[in-house]
Amino acid sequence: MEKELQVDVGYTKYPLMIGWDNLDKIVRLIPRDKKLLIVTDENVFKFYRERFEHVLVSYKREKNLQWLFKIFPPGEETKTLERAKELYDEASWLEMDRDSYFVAFGGGVIGDLTGFVASTYMRGTKFLQLPTTLLAQVDSSVGGKVAVNHPRQKNLIGSFYHPEGVLMELAFLETLPKRDFNSGLAEIIKSAILWDREFFYFIKEFMEKENYTLENPGVREDLVHIVARACEIKARVVKEDEKDHGLRQILNLGHTFAHALEGVANYSYFKHGEAVMWGMIFAAELSYAKGLLSRVDKEEIISLIGKLNPPTFPENLNPKELLSFFQTDKKKRDNVIPFILPLSIGKVEVRRDISPKEAIAVIDKYC
Ligand code: ADP
Ligand code: ZN
Repeated sequence: MEKELQVDVGYTKYPLMIGWDNLDKIVRLIPRDKKLLIVTDENVFKFYRERFEHVLVSYKREKNLQWLFKIFPPGEETKTLERAKELYDEASWLEMDRDSYFVAFGGGVIGDLTGFVASTYMRGTKFLQLPTTLLAQVDSSVGGKVAVNHPRQKNLIGSFYHPEGVLMELAFLETLPKRDFNSGLAEIIKSAILWDREFFYFIKEFMEKENYTLENPGVREDLVHIVARACEIKARVVKEDEKDHGLRQILNLGHTFAHALEGVANYSYFKHGEAVMWGMIFAAELSYAKGLLSRVDKEEIISLIGKLNPPTFPENLNPKELLSFFQTDKKKRDNVIPFILPLSIGKVEVRRDISPKEAIAVIDKYC
């Protein structure tokens, strides 16, 4: 089973191809005689280099592609200007031009770094995404945000740049650690809470399946639908507001809390998706406390997120420490920090009337 969607942001369109054992379709996106710089990390390279090269070799005659792998250490530390420079050096040494392709072959770190380089090398060259984590498939593959980190702030240096296409080979998920898989599911549940109640219950049934493993054909089929629907929701929102001035803010459900939690824990204890799990729990609690969300829906949200096993808080976490991180929130305007609150499962609202103290109060009972 396979699905193909179009992301359409007006001035450009590109396909998302989602399926099992569909890796060879990446070649369909590339014309003959092109150079590819395939950027990846050590883990992905170890698991999937052979599979990818097998595909490229099998199209040798038809496509005559030239390729080189550039391999970085895994982890957020790779998302730097220094690593970007290594890619510029490599690309110029290979005499890549504006018709050459940068291929991001990895998770969100590799996608953001590679996209950033593709957007700036020769003022923009071709870019393809081959996301290998569930999080990268449903999150960073749609929306065109690319960036590297600065020592003072994550994603400080970046731009908007869309790929020529995204190929999602779900079989890559078979080697993904459970924590990473659940982190991806957290962002998927987010898209359901903010847009689609029926989808929320579809995910719930999926997670409660008796034989909930990727070997189960039913689970595999459901996952195609789930990844596609999450991408579709994100694509709809991004189409309305590509540059993040209005509607796109709703994608930040749970993220004000999440970014603060990640910061307090030095970006090492929580994976991004795990911080988002807690962020959505707090958003639901806060919304309930304000009388905006029913008890039933609040409990549905918290119970489904609970099934993802959000990690317990670090022992010494003091909720007050989150306050200073709220102050650096990139979404802050005129000293107001917007909170996205669920009004029901499937509908959210941007609220500018929540004080940081009120927000912190709902966390206390979890510490
Ligand atoms: P994300 O933000 O998408 O979670 P990362 O790029 O930090 O992104 O990837 C998370 C971790 O998962 C990294 O250690 C990476 O090497 C590893 N990884 C990525 N894809 C796979 C895969 N398909 N199987 C196993 N590990 C993977
Ligand atoms: Zn996120």
